[in-house]
Order: sequence, then structure tokens, then C-alpha cells
Amino acid sequence: MANNDSNELTREDFDAGPSSYDEIEPNLYLGNLTAAKDIKWLKDTKISHILTVDSCPLPRQVEQLPNINLKFIQITDMPRENILTFFEDTYQFIDNALQNDKKVLVHCYFGVSRSATLVIAYIMKKHKLTYEDAYKLVKSKRRFVGPNPGFIAQLKLYETMGFTIDNHLIKPDPQLTTVRPEPTVYRCKRCRRVVASASNLLPHFPNERQIWRYIGNKTYDGLSPKQIQKLAKIEKHKKDGTSNSTEACTKTHFIEPLAWMRDIIHNVEGKLNCPKCETKLGSFSWISGCQCPCGAKVAPAFYLVPSKVDWSNVVQNVLVTI
Ligand SMILES: [Zn+2]
Ligand SMILES: [Zn+2]
Repeated sequence: MANNDSNELTREDFDAGPSSYDEIEPNLYLGNLTAAKDIKWLKDTKISHILTVDSCPLPRQVEQLPNINLKFIQITDMPRENILTFFEDTYQFIDNALQNDKKVLVHCYFGVSRSATLVIAYIMKKHKLTYEDAYKLVKSKRRFVGPNPGFIAQLKLYETMGFTIDNHLIKPDPQLTTVRPEPTVYRCKRCRRVVASASNLLPHFPNERQIWRYIGNKTYDGLSPKQIQKLAKIEKHKKDGTSNSTEACTKTHFIEPLAWMRDIIHNVEGKLNCPKCETKLGSFSWISGCQCPCGAKVAPAFYLVPSKVDWSNVVQNVLVTI
């Protein structure tokens, strides 16, 4: 009698299908929810660690198994979901189990996208493999694997960052730099705090797509020889202190990730607020990047909105004594 007036399918309309799992490397299993709920299989296989990456935790019957170690990460299978910042933690969980000769099951609902992403990230870091190679290795053991496009982007970023999300790609806070401070800086318009120096700027050109690679020092990836020439010209202008006469766009100030940017380690994207007065100065996005009004697309992107900051020359305000 009661008609379901929603056409949307819910989780209950599907089931995860028959139990499905594969051993990716010795003692490391990747599977679906049905496998994770299969008490007999868990016992027979002697699974002692279960990493769940799903919208709901495992049922009580599994939680109550003797000597079981569970880890639950709540992520939906959406490309915009942040999965990257869990890689460190899930690596430790899996590695800890394998080091102690225990058996781990990593699962999501179907064992295709989310759990596969965590296993690929583990394989990448452990064997120092590129995303492509790790993906092929995991796929050769479980033919269903297929991370969603957003997770693939995050795995590639993880590769770019050298399998770690740590401080080596975050540059020092220019406000706190006392050794050879740079003469030209950006300040928050409202409170005058220094938020970037000239060397933190990443120039871009109208209508071009740029993917920055943050490896060690600043390097540029995916640029044409012409773009590299233009960048070299800009670097020279910066060094000489001469004005910027190149075609670089100034509608958005893309900069390197800096130590004052509080949320950038724990989030994939968000706002950049002034560390002193909290005024919103710009935004960041590790994965999808940002598009400048000039048409250029930059990724990852950390940017300041020109109307929120002032360009100032410190040397003009400082009395130099020798
Ligand atoms: Zn401020
Ligand atoms: Zn632009």
C-alpha cells in the first residue's frame, strides 16, 4: 500500500554479493563486506586484523570475535572524499600486523574502490612503486580493483609527495624567517602580517594548465619548453629585483604550501585564513586544484586573493646599518 516515493536506491537495496576476497601479498587480503562478516572464513583463515573503510562499522558478531583487532575509517566512495590523509595511519595498521605475522583483511563494501585504494597506497609505500605499478600489481591479484577518479588523483599525489604527507613540502613561515629575510613580501591587508615572500610565488600563465610537483626544491612538471623559458625569465627578474615584464598572470597569487597554513595537512581542500587576524586570504586544494579567472588551472593549488594582500618591500622600511 505504502509506495516508496523515492526512486533513490539505498544501501539496503544492494548487498555486497557473495563473499569475495583475494590475497594481495602474503597475509594481506582485500575483499568485500560479505567476506568481512563471514565468521567461519575469518576463523578458518585466522584473520586477526580487519581494516574497514566504509560508511558503517562491522556488526557486533565480528567485533566480539576473540583476539580481533579492528580499525574503522568512515569514508564514502565519492571522488571528492579525502582518503589521502588516512594513508599514513592505514599503512601503520597493515604493516604492524604483517610484521607480527598476522593476517589482515582490508575491506569496503564491494572491495573495489576504497579498500583497494588503501591497499594500493600500502603497496606503493612499502615497495616504493609508482601508482601505475602498484595498481597493476594489486589488479593482477584481484581483477575487480578500480579506485574512483578522485582516489586515483590522491594516490598519484601520494606518489608525487614521496609516500608521505610531511613537512618537507611545506615551506617555512616567511614571517618567522630571520636568516636572510627576503626584501619583498606579501602582507595581510588587514593586519600586516607577512604571509608569503617573493620566492614562494608560483607564476602561472593565462589559459595554461600547470601541475606542480613538490619534490625537494621547487620543480615544474608537465610544462612546455616555452613555459620553462618564461619561468626562467621570471626567476631572473625576481633575483635582479626588476619589475615583472613577462606575461605571467597576477589575478591570483599561487604560492607554495607554507607552515602557517594550519589545515593543509589534514584536509584535501579548504580556506586559507590569516594566522594573525583570521581574515580569509585565499584557498587551497591538493587534488583538484583551482582555476584562475585567466583560465589557467593549477594543481595542487594554494592561493592568495590579490585584494586581500599587499605587496611590500621590507627594505624600504628598514634602516640598514653596516
Ligand atoms: Zn591578517
Ligand atoms: Zn591567472
